[in-house]
Amino acid sequence: MASDLTFSKWLLAAVAAFTCTVQAQSLDALKADAATPGDVLTYGMGYNNQRYSPLKQINAKNASKLQPLWAYSLNNPQGQESQPIVHDGVMYVTTFNATIALDPLSGKQIWKQDIELPQDVFKYACCGILNRGAAIYDGKIYRTTLDSQVVALDAKTGKQVWKSKAADYKDGHAMTSAPLIAGGVVITGIAGGEYGTRGFIDGWDPATGKHLWKFFTTAAPGEKGGDTWPADTHAKGGAPTWLTGAYDPELDLVYWGTGNGGPWNAEARKGDNLYINSVLALRPKTGELVWHYQFSPNDLYDYDATEVGMLLDLKVDGKKRKVLAQANRNGFFYVLDRANGKLLAANPYVKVNWADRIDIASGRPVESEVTKRIRAGGDEMVWPSVVGGKNWTPMSWNPATGLAYANTLNMAWPYQLVKPEYKKGEWYLGVNFRGVVMPKGEPHGYLSAIDPLTGKSKWQMPWPGQPSMAGTLSTAGGLVLTGAATGEFMVVDAANGKKHYEFNTGSGIIGLPVTWEHKGRQYVTVLSGAGGVWGILGDERMAQTPAGGSVWTFGLK
Ligand code: CA
Ligand code: CA
Repeated sequence: MASDLTFSKWLLAAVAAFTCTVQAQSLDALKADAATPGDVLTYGMGYNNQRYSPLKQINAKNASKLQPLWAYSLNNPQGQESQPIVHDGVMYVTTFNATIALDPLSGKQIWKQDIELPQDVFKYACCGILNRGAAIYDGKIYRTTLDSQVVALDAKTGKQVWKSKAADYKDGHAMTSAPLIAGGVVITGIAGGEYGTRGFIDGWDPATGKHLWKFFTTAAPGEKGGDTWPADTHAKGGAPTWLTGAYDPELDLVYWGTGNGGPWNAEARKGDNLYINSVLALRPKTGELVWHYQFSPNDLYDYDATEVGMLLDLKVDGKKRKVLAQANRNGFFYVLDRANGKLLAANPYVKVNWADRIDIASGRPVESEVTKRIRAGGDEMVWPSVVGGKNWTPMSWNPATGLAYANTLNMAWPYQLVKPEYKKGEWYLGVNFRGVVMPKGEPHGYLSAIDPLTGKSKWQMPWPGQPSMAGTLSTAGGLVLTGAATGEFMVVDAANGKKHYEFNTGSGIIGLPVTWEHKGRQYVTVLSGAGGVWGILGDERMAQTPAGGSVWTFGLK
């Protein structure tokens, strides 16, 4: 009897310990993602968003011997911006209308789950018919949909576990980005900043889809920051949150970027307009705002700060600091203390004429004569353009070179204010929008290797023809991996930008390469499929690059 009791106690303890381990393993695995090259569990290849892999089997000496191992057709003509997730012998990829599980070694489909969308969603869907990837946690795959739903699927079968509505797509809201799992909460953002919407960030229970919290990214009257908006302008004030944040588990802070104010015409909303064009540091469990830093107060230029940047340990003035480094669309490269939001450095990394500089003491931009003339009604050429010094795709970090690798843009836009008019579900700009201007006789974009503290590039690889809007990946093999708008998957040397390998994937690359290993062999995966913002801008050179989504995986012979 006594021994039976002991045995049951032992069994109970063992079961409890096992349950604990499984639960903890999952969150711990997410925390450890950057250091575990056998899988890719987070958007950013680690909570720190560095997109850096310690793998070096593929390196500067042998990268020229890479070859494609398999390709998989996404059967989808839209721009492909999804970052794959790789876990336990399965690769998960999203498109706007399907979630797909593949065998990462062969590219064979394991399951494909279609997303049912209302037909009129395409009338409203904001900034592109696309999806940027999934999250994985506790046996489930989490994703968002164009009609503003958050969905959890069984990772083994693809069967839907729950679905929760975040917003009404008919108001101009849309969801395109990968959720972030932090502190055991599923966190999602929202798109629609051009439609006179009000931005927010949501927290959801991963097991049930229950709504846990909501943080509105424009401050209402009576709230802290509410006095930075005239009258009720915050209600259509924008500040969308359409990309995935980063997470520092030690500080327990989630960092999330916000986009433009609505309308673009900032004279219609005089004041700083908190929290447009900002980074927010939030508690993942409650959505409580701990600190914020606003890059572009009262922004006129659609300089979305939605791409949150990277969490780095960086030596600043001889002292090791935990920083957040962001190549902002407004043309300045920012370094902030990520414990408190204090500005440590902000220098231009592309041509800038909207501001003379960022004042370090106050953290505020010093607006230029160009911006002053525009505010007074002038028509001016502004650098950088509406697509920014860098668009939405993330950069990567290589700790060995101390450089950030980003696809940067060299273009301007003509800018003049007009009276804004709000119509539900339509663009709400208040700007005489005439597209972008590409300088003659100069490259229109570069792959740039940037020193975060100075903004200066150690080297730049000019893109011939269209600039690249693809993300970058860095590896301990001394490589930077990215892709061209014309479809070439590219591997270049992190030290000098020398090209080691290129392969034409058949359509444009605008997504995010990842690398992973299996049984001692290193693989690289990237999606191909032209479209995105460059497609919307209508560069006639794109006529030579057909649409058509596919997944490509490369390895050494
Ligand atoms: Ca990993
Ligand atoms: Ca925008």
